[in-house]
Amino acid sequence: MARLFLFFVVALALAWGVVWVADHPGQMSLVWGGWRIDTSAGVLGVALIVFAVTAALLYRFWLFLTRAPGRIGMAFKERRSQKGYKALTKGMVAVAAGDAEEAKRQVGKADSLLNEPPLTLLLKAQAAQLNGDEGAAETFFTLMLDDAEMEFLGLRGLLNQAMKRGDDKTALELARRAQGLNGKSAWLAETVFQLEARAGSWLGADEALKKVGKLTDFSAREVNHRRAVALLGQSVEAHKKGNTQDAIKLAQKALNEDPALVVASAHLARLLMAGDNARKAKDVIEKAWALAPHPDLLALYFDAAKATDGLKKVTAAQALLSLKSSSPYSHIAMAAAALEAQLWGQARTHLEAVLESSGGQAGGPLRTAMTLMARLEEEDCGDKDASRVWLARAAVAPADPAWLCGHCGHVDTQWTPHCPKCKTFDALAWANPPSAKPQDVLRLQS
Ligand SMILES: [Zn+2]
Repeated sequence: MARLFLFFVVALALAWGVVWVADHPGQMSLVWGGWRIDTSAGVLGVALIVFAVTAALLYRFWLFLTRAPGRIGMAFKERRSQKGYKALTKGMVAVAAGDAEEAKRQVGKADSLLNEPPLTLLLKAQAAQLNGDEGAAETFFTLMLDDAEMEFLGLRGLLNQAMKRGDDKTALELARRAQGLNGKSAWLAETVFQLEARAGSWLGADEALKKVGKLTDFSAREVNHRRAVALLGQSVEAHKKGNTQDAIKLAQKALNEDPALVVASAHLARLLMAGDNARKAKDVIEKAWALAPHPDLLALYFDAAKATDGLKKVTAAQALLSLKSSSPYSHIAMAAAALEAQLWGQARTHLEAVLESSGGQAGGPLRTAMTLMARLEEEDCGDKDASRVWLARAAVAPADPAWLCGHCGHVDTQWTPHCPKCKTFDALAWANPPSAKPQDVLRLQS
């Protein structure tokens, strides 16, 4: 409203001015050198306005000319960095796609277009790794350590390289340094834990485990299980050094963390047996059997129960069966003891229970059951043909469960805290090896 008012005032003033000048044309004379100009005041006013507008336009044009080189330079630079970032992106895509040649080409392009060495270093290192040049990759990762923002990435690259070549000592140093930069990294906490455990530094592993528990989404049960394995590792070390009492305490602690850790139960039972404490050893095995029956516990139990002949073994096996009648290992224990005691009927009943529960499928001690069946046919009935058929079935039956590495597939008869092949901590689980061929068994049985 105020603006509109102002506009009217100015327009009125102008109109009045024009009318006034028209009413009072006057005379203006300008003498300069040999020239004389006679004109009216109105024409002079118009001439002055034209002169002012022309001067303003010329000034704008001059400004444009003086600023143009800078603008052109900026535009050129912008285009260059756009091309550089495009090459960087293409390089990353090539790395992800595993295209070594393209990655190398794009990294060269990005490097020449972008004046940001830290940004291209990572791509250079990845491209070098794709080309199988670990030495060059290491150089680039090391250069990244000089840049505060890239240091963590550089350490990660070097750490992965050290782990790949099996240099655990360097890997642990790098991992600890990286943890100093980023204490909240979950994968780093897990890596430090794995390296500490692999190095057998169980106290360090226990410390690292606290961080793993806080930073990862592992359940409390998983963390307790790992702590139990670490404690078992400490117990085995203590036993090797002759500190039996410490070894027993540590094994008991391990079982407090994870009562179903059957290897800890077997280890503790052995320690107690060596200390002439068979009654306690028997208790330990019974507790373990009720939770997770395992064939490794059987011979130990017969020893602890002083079951020296077949009939005593049957009595001992009956105690185990009553603790966990649903487990095929309880029936195998009964069958093995009954065979020794020549109680053929009992042996057959329990072997049939194992064969029926597994139905020819992987998942239990099928081969053991078939081998015992062969022994039964021969010892009970003297039927060598039937015995041979059972042995043939056993040969193609799914392999019995063993300590199987969930990481590399290695199969072992002995449990160790690390897989003997790939060195992964706590990777061995009691499971059927994948070589099982249930379809062959079914064909033979039909
Ligand atoms: Zn393995």
